[in-house]
Amino acid sequence: MARSLVPTVCPYCAVGCGLTIVVDDGLAVGIEYMQDHPVSEGSLCPKGNAALEMLYHPDRLTHPLKRTGEGWLSIGWPEALDLVAGGLSKALCEGGPKSLGFIASSKCTNEESYLIQKMARSLGCANIDSCARLCHSSSVTGLGRALGTCSTTNILSDLANSRCILAIGTNFAENHPIIARWVFRAREAGGKLIVADPRRTPTAWGGDLFLQLNPGTDVALINGMIKVILDEGLINRRFIEDRTEGFSDLESSLEGFTLSEAERITGVSASDIVGAARAYARSPASAIVYCMGVTQHANGTDNVQALANLLLICGQIGRSGSGIYPLRGQNNVQGTCDMGCLPDFYPGYLSPEDPRTQGAFRKAWGSDRLPKAAGLTSLEMMDAALDGTIKAMYIIGEDAANTHPCSKRTARALGKLGFLVVQDIFLTDTARLADVVLPAACWAEKEGSSTSTERRIQWYEQAVEPPGEAMADLWIICSLAKRLGLNFHYRSSKEVMNEICEIVPIYRGVRPAYGKGVLWPCKKEGEISILHEETFPLARGRAIIRPVHFRRTAEETSSRYPFLLIIGRIGAHHNAGSMTMRSATLLGMAPHRFVEINPKDALSLGLDDGADVVVTTARGEAMARTRSTDRVMPGTLFMPFHFPGANYLVRGYRDEHSGMGELKIAACRIERC
Ligand code: SF4
Repeated sequence: MARSLVPTVCPYCAVGCGLTIVVDDGLAVGIEYMQDHPVSEGSLCPKGNAALEMLYHPDRLTHPLKRTGEGWLSIGWPEALDLVAGGLSKALCEGGPKSLGFIASSKCTNEESYLIQKMARSLGCANIDSCARLCHSSSVTGLGRALGTCSTTNILSDLANSRCILAIGTNFAENHPIIARWVFRAREAGGKLIVADPRRTPTAWGGDLFLQLNPGTDVALINGMIKVILDEGLINRRFIEDRTEGFSDLESSLEGFTLSEAERITGVSASDIVGAARAYARSPASAIVYCMGVTQHANGTDNVQALANLLLICGQIGRSGSGIYPLRGQNNVQGTCDMGCLPDFYPGYLSPEDPRTQGAFRKAWGSDRLPKAAGLTSLEMMDAALDGTIKAMYIIGEDAANTHPCSKRTARALGKLGFLVVQDIFLTDTARLADVVLPAACWAEKEGSSTSTERRIQWYEQAVEPPGEAMADLWIICSLAKRLGLNFHYRSSKEVMNEICEIVPIYRGVRPAYGKGVLWPCKKEGEISILHEETFPLARGRAIIRPVHFRRTAEETSSRYPFLLIIGRIGAHHNAGSMTMRSATLLGMAPHRFVEINPKDALSLGLDDGADVVVTTARGEAMARTRSTDRVMPGTLFMPFHFPGANYLVRGYRDEHSGMGELKIAACRIERC
C-alpha cells in the first residue's frame, strides 16, 4: 500500500491546530507539521504531538458489548443495534419522549452532532445536551444575551494586534499553548498582558500585571475595574450611545460600590485594580481572553455578563485587536453547540419556542413530533434519572461519571436507569455502567468537520481504518435511527453538511475545506474574521449591558474544611483523561494526581513535598501527592480534574441561568494518608 499524507485537525483542544498524518501501509506512522495553518503555523503542543498514541492502544473498544451480569459479551452489530433500538423504544412507549435523555459528544464531528440532536428531536425528545454544559454554557447564555453571539468575536491570530489583553480564568500558556504564541506576539509589539487568576500560573509569569484574586470573586474584580472607568471618565460614550442599551442601569447599580470594597472581597490591591482598568480602557485595542476559571461557577453567567459590560462601556469590540475570546476546551465544543446539542437551542442557536424555528425544522426534517420547548440539561437529566422520569439514556463520548460535579451522584443516577447505551472509543467508567456499549471510530478513522473556538470549520479525511468492528459515529447513529423508524439515509458526512448548510443560517455557504478551513458566518465578500463591526444580532442591533452584583457562590470554609480547593486543568492531560492517559508520552509527563499547597501551609501541617495525602470535602475524598509551591495562595489548594475522582469532590450547586455546575471551588481539608 502506498505512503500517503492526510490533512487533519488535532483531536484535543478547541484551538484547532492543523497537522498531517503520515500513513504507511494502512497504518498511521507519524505526523508532519502544517506550516501554512492559519492558527498553529506548523506548531503543536505536547498533546498534539502525541495525538496518534491513543490510536493503537490495546484498550480500544473493538466490538459491541452486551452486559451479562457483572461481565460483558462481545456481540455483532445487528444484535447490538436491535438491543439499543429496543431499549430506547421501550422507554419511549412506556413513558413518552420525556423518558429519554441524549448526551452528545464534542469529540464528534459537526455532522454527527447534528444527527444525534436530529434523532432526539425527531423522536419528540427535547432532552439533548453535551459536555458544553460543563464547559461554556455560561458563555452561551451570558454572551448570547449580551452580544447575540457566544463565540470568539475575533480570530485567534488577531490577538497579535491587541495592545492590551486581559486574561482572566485562563492558563493558556499551559492549556492552550498555541494561543500563547499570538498573545506573546502582541507583547513583543508593545502590548500589555494583564492576568487575573487565583493561581500564579505560567500565564501569570508572562504578564505585566498579575491580579491574584480570591477564588470566586471575579464579578467584584470586574465591577471594581468598571467603577474606576466610570469614575475617571474612561468610557467610550459614543459607542455606548450608538450601540448599546442598559448603561444607565449599570451606572446606578455601582453607585454605592467602592474600590476598597472590591479590594476587600478580591484581595487585589486597589492600585492594581486601577492600573488594570486604566490599561484596558485607554488602550487603542483591548481584548479579553477567558476560560473555565470564569465559566465553571454557579455564577458563571454573571461572570461572563460582567466581562461583556466591561468591554461594552469601553467600546473594545468590533475592531482588529478588540474583542472577546471564550476559549473552548474539547476540539468541537463550538460545533456541538452550533449544531444544537443543547436543550434550549435548535441548530444555529434558534429558540424552540419560536414558531419560525418549529416551522423551518418541521419542513426540513419532515417530522411533526418536534419539541416546542426547551428540554433538560445534562445535570437535570441526572435528577430525572434519579427520580425515575428518565428511563433510558444514550451517551456518546462523554465520561459523565467522572466529568459531572459531585460525580458519584451521576454514577448513581446512571445506575438507576432502565436502559443505558454508551458509545465511545474506550471502556470509560460511564461505559462500565451501560447495558450496551457501542465501539466508535476516533477522529483519524472517519471523515467530517469540526469547528474550532474561533469559528473555523475544518474538514478532516479518514486516514486509517478503525480497529476491529468499531464504526464511525455517523454510521452508528444512522443505523440506529433507521431501526427507530427515522429517515436517516445519509451516505456521507458531506451529504449531512449539505443539509446543515441549507437550514442552519450561521453555516450557510460552508463547503468542505481542508487545511485552512472556513469561518462562519460565510459571506460571499470573504471571511468574517471580526464579528460585530457594525451591529449585534439582537433587537434593535444593540448589545445589552446588564448590571450584575457580586454574590458569594463558592462554598464557605469552616473549621472542618478550612481550605478552598481549586480544580482545573494541566497541560499534559485533557478532560477526564480517557485519551491522554493512554498516551505513554503524556502519562509520563503527569503520571498521577497531585495537589498544590502553599509552602507555609505545608510547613504548618508538616507535609513534605511529595507527601501522600487525602483531600476531603463534604462529598468525598481523593488521594494525591503534594506539590509545595507558591503558585497557590495560603489557604488554597489546586488539584487537576483529569484523574478520576476530582469531580467527586465538588458540589452540584448550579447556575440558575445556564445550568452550569460549580466545578471550580470546594471547601476541603488535607491530611497525610
Ligand atoms: Fe492540539 Fe490544542 Fe495543543 Fe493545538 S493547542 S496541538 S489543538 S491540544
